[in-house]
Amino acid sequence: MPDLQSVLDEIATDLKTASERGAVASYIPELAKVDPGQFGIAVLTPDGVVHSAGDANVAFSIQSISKVFTLTLALGQVGDILWNRVGREPSGNPFNSIVQLEYEHGIPRNPLINAGALVVTDVILAGYKPREAIGLILSFMRSLAGDDSIIIDVDVARSEEETGFRNRALANYMKAYDNIRHPVEMTTGVYFHQCAIAMSCRQLAVAGSFLAGQGRHPLTGNKVVSAERARRINAVMLTCGHYDGSGEFAFRVGIPGKSGVGGGILAIVPGKASIAVWSPGLNKVGNSLLGSRALERLAKAMDWSIFGP
Ligand code: GLU
Repeated sequence: MPDLQSVLDEIATDLKTASERGAVASYIPELAKVDPGQFGIAVLTPDGVVHSAGDANVAFSIQSISKVFTLTLALGQVGDILWNRVGREPSGNPFNSIVQLEYEHGIPRNPLINAGALVVTDVILAGYKPREAIGLILSFMRSLAGDDSIIIDVDVARSEEETGFRNRALANYMKAYDNIRHPVEMTTGVYFHQCAIAMSCRQLAVAGSFLAGQGRHPLTGNKVVSAERARRINAVMLTCGHYDGSGEFAFRVGIPGKSGVGGGILAIVPGKASIAVWSPGLNKVGNSLLGSRALERLAKAMDWSIFGP
């Protein structure tokens, strides 16, 4: 087996200077300001060691990667009845698509597209004020990452508030089916803030590591979720974590992953590694171009595809 650190160094050196880097998301104006020349990667292995390369300590907007953690939180709050309000099938449509909601009577296809994540956030909101729900999500991220310095980028949150008409449309549409139970502005407000959490690859790899450890966090020893729940969250990530690029990601990389339009990807190798990679330029379907390439190289070099060598 090759040395993990050497593989990461090699990937980071190559990709830091790659000429084709994809396009930074511009529909959230604040994200358009990010320098596309950055690349970072961090891997936490079950022995608790973090290996990293490139810009692994630079904080970026986690965007839709937050959906994995809000899903975990909501399942912890209400259990499997959550699945009455959101499905578990890949969408085959863009992340912000509204069309399927009509056929499926306001039940989103899965919790990792925008419509599904809005429902999950609406579930978390029950019994809380928006500010408290945002605090709950942020505290969850901080405790999983073991780092209280993690913050919400208020400029990104505001930028999303100012331009999030599509997300409001999704929430309004689902509200017509009573699948959003709070005022739309409340649910979307919390959602915009969870997406605007800023974290580095290192913090994210640590935060996601319970998914690689059958629900147990390797650094704290805490059982975050049951082994069954970790397995199921990983399954949803594999089938739905890259929007309508999920099939391609499974084909090329072969591990569960969740991308965000900030250019980050959290990827899980059950029993072996929690990986966070970041490069802001996106491919056509909104997934990090170089992040996906890096994961393909890493999974191949380390023999990490869950489908075998
Ligand atoms: N906050 C973004 C949105 O709602 C998240 C999208 C993403 O990362 O895929 O449009």
